[in-house]
Amino acid sequence: MLVALAVVGVSSPVGAARGVGGRESAEYHVSGVTTAQQRSAVAATGAAVTGVEDSRLLISATAREVAEIRAMGLTVAAEAAVVRDLGVLAANDFPSADSRYHTFAEMNAEINQAVVDHPGIITRRVIGKTYQNRDIVAVKISDNAASDEAEPEVLFTAHQHAREHLTVEMALYLIKTMTDGYATDSRVRGLVDTREIWVVPDVNPDGGEYDIATGAYRGWRKNRQPNAGTSAVGTDLNRNWNHKWGCCGGSSGSPSSETYRGPRAASSPEVTALQDFISSRVVGGRQQITTGVDFHTYSELVLWPYGYTYSNTTADLNSTDQRVFATLGRGMAARNGYTAQQSSDLYITDGSIDDYLWGVHKIYGYTFEMYPASGGGLSGFYPPDEVIASETARNKDALFYLLDHADCPKRSIGQTC
Ligand SMILES: [Zn+2]
Repeated sequence: MLVALAVVGVSSPVGAARGVGGRESAEYHVSGVTTAQQRSAVAATGAAVTGVEDSRLLISATAREVAEIRAMGLTVAAEAAVVRDLGVLAANDFPSADSRYHTFAEMNAEINQAVVDHPGIITRRVIGKTYQNRDIVAVKISDNAASDEAEPEVLFTAHQHAREHLTVEMALYLIKTMTDGYATDSRVRGLVDTREIWVVPDVNPDGGEYDIATGAYRGWRKNRQPNAGTSAVGTDLNRNWNHKWGCCGGSSGSPSSETYRGPRAASSPEVTALQDFISSRVVGGRQQITTGVDFHTYSELVLWPYGYTYSNTTADLNSTDQRVFATLGRGMAARNGYTAQQSSDLYITDGSIDDYLWGVHKIYGYTFEMYPASGGGLSGFYPPDEVIASETARNKDALFYLLDHADCPKRSIGQTC
């Protein structure tokens, strides 16, 4: 056990950053980047864009990716070290200063307690295993939760990216709100009685546990699946989904990259489990899930598809669909104070969950990039646990607004279903 000032972001005074925790990448900012095309060019090197601040781009990148970005004529500098007192560091746990964050075991204990406390309106099932054989848990919240009723279904997923721990807290907040509130809150009761709400609170527990295994933070993003022929570990789960996988320069083919897409679509057991689960919700030829949110940090954004193309509409995303996406997206942003935009307005990504949900299943799927709005390198991924309560409750009205529209998303633009 150590008591220390834990280093959240690392850089040397001469600007030659190095990674921490087995990562081959480190944190940098790129100056003078103003257009989506420029941002996409930076992302296409394989660097993970972690923040967009005016003309500055924050990235996690390998030395090779930095060299490629510099070769474009852009200025790249190492992010300054950010140090916060994390208190006591214990193995396989959050540092004492952040003890209100849930480890994987603590998350499961809280879910199990909710099932005990609220029989009838919440069930828990394991929908698959991670590479390291941890359970991928799905919670269902509805009246008569044990039965598959003819009610619109909504999917909330969290923690594809390991260091984005606040997203697990978001999922637990949602579970708690919809179960504890059922007896007393008429709005909660109305939604639980008429919807089937799925929450997958931890898509990437292997990565999450690895990130806190030393008691400090490692800044890990990917899963923990080895890659053949290299010591570089991990696939970026949100570049591994089976729609337009690797199509468009929005992911990396290099295993050392933070945005490595994997050797083939759904090569990760985690994405395979989720895709199989989502496909299993096709009942009588009809996908029951209508809407969803995948939680990430950070930047305070509400994003909608597509990510693989700059086009607002495509052959399979028409202008009506686009209006629904934008209207619901802006409606949520009006309620949580985030900024709403199409994903590719930031930069091109491919193989993401939102592109899969729409491209394969015609589900109105959104990405939330949670608190903070800007963070500077790695520190933005590790907000102190004092913000958990406010930054999860902040999304309640936005998520209720989406749940309200789950029976007929087109109602948002005045159309009937
Ligand atoms: Zn993320």
